[in-house]
Amino acid sequence: MNFTAKTRLLTLLGDPILHSRSPDIQNRAFEAAGVDGVYVALQCKEEDLAGLMLGLARCGGGGNITLPHKEKAAAIVEVASKAVLRTGACNTFWGDAEGRIHGDNTDVDGFRSALSSFIGEVSSGIRVLLLGGGGAARAALLGLIEEGADEVVIFNRTPERARAMSRRIGGQRTRVIRALDDLKGEGFDLVVNATSLGLEENDPASFDFELMSRVGVAMDLVYGSRVTPFVRAAEAMGIRATDGAEMLVQQGAASFERWWGMPAPVEAMRAAMEKSLAD
Ligand code: NAP
Repeated sequence: MNFTAKTRLLTLLGDPILHSRSPDIQNRAFEAAGVDGVYVALQCKEEDLAGLMLGLARCGGGGNITLPHKEKAAAIVEVASKAVLRTGACNTFWGDAEGRIHGDNTDVDGFRSALSSFIGEVSSGIRVLLLGGGGAARAALLGLIEEGADEVVIFNRTPERARAMSRRIGGQRTRVIRALDDLKGEGFDLVVNATSLGLEENDPASFDFELMSRVGVAMDLVYGSRVTPFVRAAEAMGIRATDGAEMLVQQGAASFERWWGMPAPVEAMRAAMEKSLAD
């Protein structure tokens, strides 16, 4: 790549950031699309976030925000998308010609695109069990509501977090349960794992599929170079399952489109993600 005085700087801001695949995916996307940008990851503390975001955006740059700063970032942006306002989280920012800083939460679009490529255009009217109450769960919940899911039952280790998420995003189409045993014998069209269980090699699966009378398909938001415990547990019961790799590509593609105002080279991004996970 040939960097010049016109090259735009896009960054990933988070702590930690060393595990991230986004630099591999975005730099390959910039090359494939022929745009003049470079994407780097910067480990940053919460107290430095506002200064970095405002400075970068006002210099024509932008970037992504990852753990643990997505909520703080939502409070920093000046022009917030509907997804930021509804989830209270921002994972993508950029500046405009007037020097204002815009923010979006492309985890929502990423989840919706990955879901429809996994199950087709049939998400309206479905009954879903959503595991988790953090940032990924909030993006998934908004995505499910926007896709027209009939009912989303939510279970999280900390029920208060799930209840707050349900009030903020889901309203009457959600129900929070205190224990998974409460669901014994019930059936779901889709089970989504939005907890971080499965990130570490020896993590247990976040869910016992044998509890249910029926599960249509299972979607894990965790991804990595190995089959995740959640996907393994679903497949062992003969349930079709996928991990979070496609959501990662799709949220990155949506971020690319916010920064550059053109369609993202999704195939090149998917190939870069697969290579990065294999390395
Ligand atoms: P987060 O805000 O820190 O939330 C973590 C969630 O996991 C919470 O619901 C937490 O429950 C639960 N949890 C953590 N340890 C647990 C344990 N030992 N037992 C039961 N539950 C546990 O993180 P996040 O941003 O939502 O991310 C969650 C996962 O989604 C991560 O693995 C992340 O890599 C993945 N993700 C993937 C994508 C993608 O594009 N594929 C995008 C975003 C996130 P409590 O509320 O009780 O603590």
